Amino acid sequence: MTFSKLGLIDQLQRNLDSLGYRTPTPVQAQAIPAVLAGRDLMAAAQTGTGKTAGFALPLLQRLTMEGPQVNSNCVRVLVLVPTRELAEQVHQAFGEYGASLPLRTHVAYGGVSINPQMMKLRKGLDVLVATPGRLLDLYRQNAVKFEQLQTLVLDEADRMLDLGFSRELNEVFEALPKKHQTLLFSATFSDEIRALSTTLLKDPVRIEI
Ligand code: AMP
Repeated sequence: MTFSKLGLIDQLQRNLDSLGYRTPTPVQAQAIPAVLAGRDLMAAAQTGTGKTAGFALPLLQRLTMEGPQVNSNCVRVLVLVPTRELAEQVHQAFGEYGASLPLRTHVAYGGVSINPQMMKLRKGLDVLVATPGRLLDLYRQNAVKFEQLQTLVLDEADRMLDLGFSRELNEVFEALPKKHQTLLFSATFSDEIRALSTTLLKDPVRIEI
């Protein structure tokens, strides 16, 4: 199995070659075609399975194929993560996988000044990786708008709930356009996660590794 067999464009394939990724991991082999096709996804995948590339690669591809079109303060792909460390890691992964693609990506989390994050958002972003609390602060200050939102990714959804982010998450969900793609990644599937997936996901592709 190769990445191009999964439908990835040459530009992404070249970036993967230089990172030394030869074959897709099982979660990537299942997630990439589903995300490219615009499907919702519910994936039981832990850290170390290659889940980040599983969503980042097909989302980068779709954004590239659609071309630049982001309005002021809008975001096209929103990735919510539980911690600032994971936010940095996922943002860095988008940068590496999408090297040389003409896309604007940024990261936002709490505990640091909000102003540089607001400045970055002014021109709009193709990808924003954020923790729920800071994302909500940005939203309440009108620094981020969701009318162009195409895809919401919940990464480590179980940890977000464990850390007490469910109120923030619900407020964000309410603000999103009705029609968008949702990708939910979680290491564990508690009743709470199942309930969340029932409300958020439409006919999802299910992945269990
Ligand atoms: P993740 O589960 O997304 O945190 O990724 C775990 C680690 O595997 C990261 O260090 C990635 O750089 C690496 N990785 C992801 N996909 C591949 C692949 N297809 N081939 C080789 N390494 C990979």
